[in-house]
Amino acid sequence: MSIEIQINQLREELRQHNHNYYVLDAATISDYEFDMKLKELQELEAQHPEFYDPNSPTLRVGGGITKNFETVVHEHRMYSLDNSYSKEDLLDWEKRIKKLVDGEVNYTCELKYDGASISLTYEEGELVRAVTRGDGIQGDNVTTNIKTIKSVPLKLTGDYPPKFDIRGEIILPFEGFAKMNQERIEAGEEPYMNPRNTASGSLKLQDSTEIAKRPLDCLLYNITGDRLKIDSQYQSLEKARAWGFKVPAESKLVNSIDEVLEFVSYWDTHRHNLPYETDGVVIKVNNLQQQEELGFTAKAPRWAMAYKFKAEQVSTVLKEITYQVGRTGAITPVANLDPVLLAGTTVKRASLHNADQIAKLDIREGDTVYVEKGGEIIPKIVAVDFSKRNKDSQPTQYITECPECGTELIRKEGEAQHYCPNDQGCSPQIVGRIQHYISRKAMDIEGLGGETVALLVKEGLIVNYADLYELKKEQVIPLERMAEKSAENLIAGIKKSKEIPFERVLFALGIRYVGETVAKKLAKHYKNIDAIITATEEDLVNVDEIGIKIAQSVKEFFGIEENVTLIKRLQDYEVQLKVSAEKLANQTDTLQGKTFVVSGVFEKVSRNELKKLIEDNGGKISSSISSKTSFVVAGENMGPSKLEKANKLEIAIISEDDFLNMLA
Ligand code: AMP
Ligand code: ZN
Repeated sequence: MSIEIQINQLREELRQHNHNYYVLDAATISDYEFDMKLKELQELEAQHPEFYDPNSPTLRVGGGITKNFETVVHEHRMYSLDNSYSKEDLLDWEKRIKKLVDGEVNYTCELKYDGASISLTYEEGELVRAVTRGDGIQGDNVTTNIKTIKSVPLKLTGDYPPKFDIRGEIILPFEGFAKMNQERIEAGEEPYMNPRNTASGSLKLQDSTEIAKRPLDCLLYNITGDRLKIDSQYQSLEKARAWGFKVPAESKLVNSIDEVLEFVSYWDTHRHNLPYETDGVVIKVNNLQQQEELGFTAKAPRWAMAYKFKAEQVSTVLKEITYQVGRTGAITPVANLDPVLLAGTTVKRASLHNADQIAKLDIREGDTVYVEKGGEIIPKIVAVDFSKRNKDSQPTQYITECPECGTELIRKEGEAQHYCPNDQGCSPQIVGRIQHYISRKAMDIEGLGGETVALLVKEGLIVNYADLYELKKEQVIPLERMAEKSAENLIAGIKKSKEIPFERVLFALGIRYVGETVAKKLAKHYKNIDAIITATEEDLVNVDEIGIKIAQSVKEFFGIEENVTLIKRLQDYEVQLKVSAEKLANQTDTLQGKTFVVSGVFEKVSRNELKKLIEDNGGKISSSISSKTSFVVAGENMGPSKLEKANKLEIAIISEDDFLNMLA
């Protein structure tokens, strides 16, 4: 077989697997096999640059950097949608339609996906361009980034027309959003506000490897072009699906406005079960001939109408704005509200995000405000009821000094958040760092809780985590709620933390952007702290999954003398600052590329030992079963839903012994 044929076959095969996994949600090979094939293709492509293909599946992982996004004029304008809020609005719309077209009118009802709109251009079945909506007339060319979104087909199948544009929405499903936020919180970063802004912010990232890591999805809803041989909107959705696009199956063809309303009311309650956010329904005249006759107003098509779901909203009084200082020094303003019931829970506080947000909405203490719960975790204030504002109310003056230590706040250019720069002297930062150090996922110090840490700092017994190792029982006993026994436990717990492995110590140090996963990666690569301290930014970036932001943050951390002194002290106290010799000896690559889910109770090894064995031997652990799972290691009492899912996805279920044999 010629090299060219071999390369093309591999590309075709990988494309099919991508489609199965990301569009159909039904994989037919394991993650490992997929990665092996991808690697094989990467190697062949590297050896034979003459067969370069801009739409090869190998480009899904990103790599391209876009410094300035080129402006592109849309060949077909991207319109907005008119909004309706009631049955009357829809009936009025129908009346207007019936004046302009003859014959029966049917409608397709689609969900309104809440993300960032995108226009994709395909020529001869290949993606040639992806452009953001921009102002509807022109947008930004974000092709390099869009290619990393796995559900966007790079090549089509079936009877696609030679040239067309297809429009859709780039969205971030809830699950992926929550996971991204979890990682940010662990790394000491501010969580993202909501899926929509995060999705649209992703499109303009300069480094496409960053966007490749985000679990974005692309849902399509409109085909535009000439001589398409399509008669109806509903048919166009079916066609797009057949050509390889991800088109949600919820859409429905209906014959009347009453049926439209049924669809709306069904999804108004059921939308909460969908994996992604929707903010309404889009109703479109189904017949494309009729659509053409109806045409467009200056702003929107006459043949389509959005019907927005009502976001759950209540009004209440904003009693006070307070300011919190995080362990990184970031200031978060918080609205303290008169308690009010919203979407089933009592809300007492709402996030105000930052100074700009407060100024933009002109939010003041004493105001009656509207609080809404959308896709975000914490409710937000969406508006002020100005009619109820007190006459002598004054605009909110954002604090200029740290509420905890009085230091003047700083705000870096391009950042929305204010920071207290007094990291060595500001109590919540000092306490926060030590609390992070002792936390369960970090040093897991038994007998010591967050409140005790605050007390120890307040009493001047400790100012940093290294001081913990100098604590004496006699110093601790006099503290509130301490007895001889609990003081002993505390000291013993601190001593025991010297056994905590290096990767967790590294996480415990509280370096910005170094969460659990990054700490593991760094520990595995560098093996000891000194190698990390002396690593250059370039070295760091070359480590798998370490980006420039992390590298800079690591350099910055060790560039501060106080931090290096702390590390030296930890070393003196014999905290693990290198990978243990035993661990080094036990590490293999046997399970490289395999992902495991562990479920149930085991006999020979504990659950944690099992997990450690997986990681030490190069395998990955995931908490939930997906088609990416290579094996489920099942013990006694494996959960029934896990079992069902594993069977459905045909994932190998192995016993504890099978697993141990793999390593033997
Ligand atoms: P709006 O931004 O509120 O004017 O709503 C118009 C936007 O809704 C369009 O630009 C699309 O990006 C988006 N949209 C989401 N789902 C759909 C859909 N099923 N059909 C048409 N537009 C949609
Ligand atoms: Zn401060």
